Amino acid sequence: MSGCIFCRIAAGEVNATVVYEDDQLLAFKDHAPKAPVHILVIPKRHIANLYELTDDDADLMAHIMLSIPKVAAQAGLQSGFRTITNTGSGGRQEVYHMHFHILGGGKLPAM
Ligand code: AMP
Repeated sequence: MSGCIFCRIAAGEVNATVVYEDDQLLAFKDHAPKAPVHILVIPKRHIANLYELTDDDADLMAHIMLSIPKVAAQAGLQSGFRTITNTGSGGRQEVYHMHFHILGGGKLPAM
């Protein structure tokens, strides 16, 4: 989607520190990290947020969920990590291209 910063990262038009990539998803470092390790996992295809998912996205969502622990382990987060997805204005979503935050590498505040 033109104008979407994460679509532009997925297309290689905007630089990011990519830590994992396959045909369906991309994982890259958040440019304003909120933890010692802060990675964003996105589908390459534009989906605004969880509300925009359809039944046709089930395989993609399974792939994202199964990839997140692999990306986290590769980043050295063997003791665990936090995964957050902000959805819509009520969830304080800033970038409207669905993404999953992987946070860890330090003592995270309790939820
Ligand atoms: P949110 O939409 O609230 O879940 O958060 C969006 C996240 O994307 C924030 O943590 C930003 O720091 C991050 N972010 C925005 N633009 C970029 C970018 N060009 N490269 C890396 N991270 C970004």
